[in-house]
Amino acid sequence: MIHEMKRDLVIIGGGPAGLSAAAAARQAGCEDVLLIERDRILGGILNQCIHDGFGLHRYGEALTGPEYAQRHIDEINDLNIETLMGTIVLSMDRERDLTVSSRKGYTRIHAGAVILAMGCRERTAGAISLPGTRPSGIYTAGAAQNFINLQNIMVGRHIVILGSGDIGLIMARRMTLEGARVEAVFEILPYASGLPRNIQQCLNDYDIPLHLSTSVIEVHGKDRLTGVTVAEIKNFKPLPGTERFVPCDTLLLSVGLIPENELSSEASVKLETRTSGAFVDDTFMTSVPGVFSCGNVLHVHDLVDHVSEEASMAGEFACKYLAGGSSRDAGPIDIEPNDGVRYVLPQQASGKSDFTLSLRVTEPSRNRAVWVRDGDRKVVRKKMVRLHPAEMVRVKIRKDKLENAKKLEVSVE
Ligand SMILES: Cc1cc2nc3c(=O)[nH]c(=O)nc-3n(C[C@H](O)[C@H](O)[C@H](O)COP(=O)(O)OP(=O)(O)OC[C@H]3O[C@@H](n4cnc5c(N)ncnc54)[C@H](O)[C@@H]3O)c2cc1C
Repeated sequence: MIHEMKRDLVIIGGGPAGLSAAAAARQAGCEDVLLIERDRILGGILNQCIHDGFGLHRYGEALTGPEYAQRHIDEINDLNIETLMGTIVLSMDRERDLTVSSRKGYTRIHAGAVILAMGCRERTAGAISLPGTRPSGIYTAGAAQNFINLQNIMVGRHIVILGSGDIGLIMARRMTLEGARVEAVFEILPYASGLPRNIQQCLNDYDIPLHLSTSVIEVHGKDRLTGVTVAEIKNFKPLPGTERFVPCDTLLLSVGLIPENELSSEASVKLETRTSGAFVDDTFMTSVPGVFSCGNVLHVHDLVDHVSEEASMAGEFACKYLAGGSSRDAGPIDIEPNDGVRYVLPQQASGKSDFTLSLRVTEPSRNRAVWVRDGDRKVVRKKMVRLHPAEMVRVKIRKDKLENAKKLEVSVE
């Protein structure tokens, strides 16, 4: 038998985004909030991040992932917000009808509003068409982190890391602290993908070399990995004569994250190719009325503090929508990336309130400015000493600067 229920606000995902959105919605006056998490515990990816460095902006403290998550969990417990754990949302449609599965069976829920907070997943060996054999010993960095930090299982002793994303950097340090030898980190791009602070604290402090413009061009081994061939890369092709064999028993992949938007697609939420997340306005509402998106499912964040802040706003706006105060109908202003900007969010704004743009640049640079223009008119110019693709840039936009604006273009100059 399928149970049926109606709820005002349903939040999918109990990571920091879902938890912050739930608390903010309740504090904004939404009495009926239901948070659904497929795992048996709340906290999302933070549970396996036992290193510190979380919460510097929000709390002025360097917390571990579980400590940061616990602050959010305490908050939703204090607010008596209902949570369903060990429960997965299997499907969702445009009318916000959800099918949910748990040990108790299936439930169909009609939601007045939905907040998507499903996080993201890692790109795998298959996703990057890693050349060579498929022996054991190849893990995504996050999977290895889960084995070591949550299950006390050591994944290998002699490690090579492909990709310089933050999870790979964190794992280079973690494996070293656990007694493994980390041979090197190889990065196909001419610059690191992770945060500069992680390059210093996780590689330089442990004498782990980072080889830029270099990638794995072949995996070797039958049962267990025996090594990889690496080569320098130019124009995304191996440079002949630069190949060398690096012996290792374990290869960790830190080659990018993909927002988990399968449910969103099913509900016809318009997705943006640059972010692989939803197309949203300045209230975090997607193209489907009453469906909001925040956190890593919207765009991959480098700092959890920004996830919490963004999700709190999504929670408040969802509550406002339920009370009949949505701003979607106000002649929208389109927002688009231009020279030097990989993506910008939100993609639309009403112009009725102040909001914050989040953007990532295409390449590292120094002493530049982020410009926001409406045609030839300057809306904002923000000077930046350093710009890096790994670091999200945030620019405040005041509504009084948006009078008669039709389209904002954001560039680095
Ligand atoms: C290894 C690693 C290291 C990091 N280090 C730092 C750091 O040092 N400092 C920092 O500030 N940030 C760091 N971050 C980033 C930060 O942890 C993330 O930005 C943040 O956790 C994202 O939050 P989220 O809620 O969007 O996603 P998640 O934490 O991934 O939560 C999403 C939740 O949704 C649930 N879910 C998904 N689909 C469904 C479904 N269909 N039904 C029900 N539930 C579902 C998942 O189970 C999960 O619990 C790190 C991230 C990683 C992965």
